[in-house]
Amino acid sequence: ALLMKDIHKAWGQHEVLKGVELRVAPGEVVSVIGPSGSGKTTLIRTINGLESLDKGEVVLFGEGFIQAGNARNRKAEQQGIRRIGMVFQGFNLFPHYTILQNVMLAQRYHHQPEKETVRRAQALWLLDKVGLLAHVDKYPHQLSGGQQQRVAIARALALSPDIMLFDEPTSALDPERVGEVLKVISELAREGMTMVIVTHEMDFALAISDRVILMNQGNIQADATPAHIRCGEHSPALQRIRQFMGVNA
Ligand code: ATP
Repeated sequence: ALLMKDIHKAWGQHEVLKGVELRVAPGEVVSVIGPSGSGKTTLIRTINGLESLDKGEVVLFGEGFIQAGNARNRKAEQQGIRRIGMVFQGFNLFPHYTILQNVMLAQRYHHQPEKETVRRAQALWLLDKVGLLAHVDKYPHQLSGGQQQRVAIARALALSPDIMLFDEPTSALDPERVGEVLKVISELAREGMTMVIVTHEMDFALAISDRVILMNQGNIQADATPAHIRCGEHSPALQRIRQFMGVNA
């Protein structure tokens, strides 16, 4: 589904991504972990064009997509970006719209008024899926952080995305609200959604991922399946990822 080739990105003199190579197959769930400042957020934001590239290429769904500098094709980028759903640390809901309106604004065909009833039904279905059917007429500030983040997930799903990106989706939540959001993401994983998730939740990453990626200083330092991380096999990369995740194999 996703191929990142030789991704380079610098902020001034500071090279944040140093030639990252990453492949995500359809239906795969990949978690990205690593120390603060290692480039996780920058990496995930390059996937849907929120950060420009200095070098390299992002190929989505087999089509040329985001490239560096002069090679950019904005039309191709927009077509690709429409197939990506993204959830941010800070929810980013529209404060003056209800929960239902927030989801309906994101729908792919929201400019087609004749489909209003269909869109409404789809939005309600999505809000039911994330457990918020009882709150659809409320405004974001009337909900807890965990509930707002579940709305943000429903809103991203309203685009009918082929891939979902999560950038530290539970980092801004009170501890007691983390579980309800992780549960929704786990359900999406079970349904076969392709996902890339930047997270600090190690148990969650081990439980739902097909692969866990450890970033360090702008490079992928380890790329391993949870089974390999848990089993006793020894390699420097596995040892590093175990150490970071606090896993005793
Ligand atoms: P964290 O776990 O703390 O979120 P991270 O691994 O996601 O960290 P990034 O947010 O990708 O790391 O940041 C990598 C580096 O790039 C950091 O040193 C950060 O200060 C720098 N950086 C990120 N965004 C910008 C920006 N817009 N302008 C300048 N520097 C930036």
